[in-house]
Amino acid sequence: MTAKVVVLGAGYAGAGAIQQLEAELDDADITWVSDTDYHLVLHESHRVIRDPRVKDKITLPIHEIKSPSTRFVQDTVEGIDTDERTVELEEGNDLDYDYLLVALGSDTAFYGIPGMAENALTLKGLDDALEIHDQVKEAAKTASRNDPAKVVIGGAGLSGIQSAGEIAEYRDKHRAPIDIYLVEAMDEIMPGQDPELQGTVKKHLLEKDINILTDDPITEATEEEIQFDEGEPLDYDVFVWTGGVTGRKALDNCNLDNQHNRVTAEANFQTSDDRVFAIGDSAIIDQGENPAPPTAQAAWQAAEVVGENIAREIRGQPLKTWTFNDKGTVISIGDDAVAHGVKAGGMDFPISTFSSVPAEMLKKVIAARWIADITSWNRAFKAWDSL
Ligand code: NAD
Repeated sequence: MTAKVVVLGAGYAGAGAIQQLEAELDDADITWVSDTDYHLVLHESHRVIRDPRVKDKITLPIHEIKSPSTRFVQDTVEGIDTDERTVELEEGNDLDYDYLLVALGSDTAFYGIPGMAENALTLKGLDDALEIHDQVKEAAKTASRNDPAKVVIGGAGLSGIQSAGEIAEYRDKHRAPIDIYLVEAMDEIMPGQDPELQGTVKKHLLEKDINILTDDPITEATEEEIQFDEGEPLDYDVFVWTGGVTGRKALDNCNLDNQHNRVTAEANFQTSDDRVFAIGDSAIIDQGENPAPPTAQAAWQAAEVVGENIAREIRGQPLKTWTFNDKGTVISIGDDAVAHGVKAGGMDFPISTFSSVPAEMLKKVIAARWIADITSWNRAFKAWDSL
C-alpha cells in the first residue's frame, strides 16, 4: 500500500524536506501543508523593512519548489492527534497520515511581559516586515530634525541587530529624522557569543548611529513607552520586539513529548511517536549536551537527512543519526556584514571574525545557494542584489 506522508510547514525545514522526500520516495502519497503559498527566505526578511520590493525576491512560490505529484494544502495547523493519525486544520477537513513531519517553525516569545504582545511589532513573517517598514515610514513623515521619530528595538540577538541595520539604511537613504535604539537585557549584544564577534558587530552598529542600551531588561510595554527593571522608561514611535523565539501554539494541542511547544526528537528526528518526525525550530533535536540551535542553518542540514530517514522508516531500514555541523554565523548590519567561525570544506577559515566585502559576499552566496537549491539558479541570480 502507498504510504501517506504529510509535511507540516514551508520554512527551511519543510521546503528542504519536501525535496528530499520526493527524491527518496517514488511511489509515496505526499501532502504538504502551509499557511502561506510561498516559502519565505526568513533570514533575509529584515531586508523588506528597508525596501518592500525585496519581498518578491525572497518569497518562492510553492509550485516552484514541489513536484506536481505532491499535493499542497494551504491551511493553518491547529493540532495533531497521534492516536487517530490525523492533523487538525483550521479551514479544511482533518488530514490522515501514515508518517508525519512536523516542521512548523517558531513563534515570537513574549515571556509573559505585560503589554508586549499587544503593543510590539514582531518579525516572524513577510507581513511583519512590511508593517515595520510602513510604521517607520509613517513615523518619519511627522518627525523633524528637532523632534526625530524614535524607533526602539527590544532584544539584540540576530533579528534585532539586522532589523536595526535595515532601519539605519532606510534613514540614511531617505535622510529621514529617525533615532534608533537597540535595547538588550544582558550586559552585551548577542549574549553568550564570542567577544570578538560582539565587539565587531557593536562597532558597526555604532558607526551607523544606532544607540545601544544594555544590562537592563524590558519589563513592560505600553502604547507609548517601554519600561525597564531599573532605568527610566523609553518612549517610542515604533517598537519592534525581537526578544526570542518559542514553539508553535498548534503544538500545544498534540500528544507528542514537547518542551514549550517544541517537540522533542532523537538525533534521527523520531519523536515520542515513531511515525512522527520533527526538525527545524519546532523540534528540540537531541545532540548530546546541547540540542541543535533554532537556526536556518540547522533546519537546512536536518532537512537533507530527514527525507531519507522517513523513507528508511517506511522500508523498515535502520535510521541515520544526524549531527549538527556549525559552519559559522554571518550577520548583516545594513549593507555591511560580519562573519564569525566560518568553516569551508570542513576546515576553519583562517580569520575567526571578518567583515566588509568578504562577509557581505558570503552572506549573499549562502542565501543564493539556498534559493538555487530549492528552486533554480535563475531565481537566485534575480534575487542577488537584494540579498
Ligand atoms: P535571540 O533569542 O537570539 O535573541 C533575543 C535577544 O533578546 C537576546 O539577546 C535576549 O537577551 C534579548 N532579550 C530577551 N528578553 C529581553 C528583555 N526582556 N529585554 C531586553 N532584551 C531581551 O532571538 P532572535 O534574534 O530572534 O534569533 C532566534 C534564532 O534565530 C537564533 O538562534 C538566531 O541565531 C536565529 N536567527 C538567524 C538569522 C540569520 O540570519 N542567520 C536571523 C535571525 C535569527
